[in-house]
Amino acid sequence: MIITKQKNFDELLRMMDGQRSVFIVGCGECATTCRTGGEKEVAEMSLKLAENGKTVTGSVVINAPCLELDTRRVLRQNKNLVDKTEVILVLACGAGVQAVAEAVECSVYPGCDSLFLGNVFRHLYFYEKCSTCGECVIGSYGGICPVTRCSKSLLNGPCGGSVKGMCEVDNKKECIWIAIYDRMKKSNSLDKLAKVLPAKNHSAGTSPGRVINGV
Ligand code: SF4
Ligand code: SF4
Repeated sequence: MIITKQKNFDELLRMMDGQRSVFIVGCGECATTCRTGGEKEVAEMSLKLAENGKTVTGSVVINAPCLELDTRRVLRQNKNLVDKTEVILVLACGAGVQAVAEAVECSVYPGCDSLFLGNVFRHLYFYEKCSTCGECVIGSYGGICPVTRCSKSLLNGPCGGSVKGMCEVDNKKECIWIAIYDRMKKSNSLDKLAKVLPAKNHSAGTSPGRVINGV
């Protein structure tokens, strides 16, 4: 899922400077899980905007705003309210914001910052384990991704700077190379780690990404 955090409210007000009427769109999936754009956060945002002189024309929590056809359909259903508004504020990731922007003509602003593709460990604990590099290499590392989880994205062993198992770049994070070593030891595949692997093919991660008809 996409991990988001809500933008600072003053920044939102600055974006909407000179515009009075606002319609709010939330997200029933990732932003609900992150508590940045679910029903509760949309209601709180409505209240806060009203207290700051904005007219909230309406709001809706779309199941997943990144599903573009669904988003268009829901906004069409709310056309009478959307037509009365100068601004749509989207409490979702950047993909959701852009889906909304492509469905309407008024100003569309992001209410959240998108942080990373995250695994959910438990409620409100999110970890980045994959950065969607375009060519997955974790078969060589016991199923653990050094591209994302090593601060230096090292592919041929640790940098040697780890202190007491923690990363030298950020001592609040474990050195992932210890986890890679332990895991490969358990699966009797340490011999694979002895091989020097070629540099990562970064051209595989083409951006903007595009998959058409599954290809
Ligand atoms: S190697 Fe690439 S695709 Fe595989 S987990 Fe790491 S970042 Fe994701
Ligand atoms: S200490 Fe470990 S995780 Fe941190 S940069 Fe070095 S090898 Fe990577």
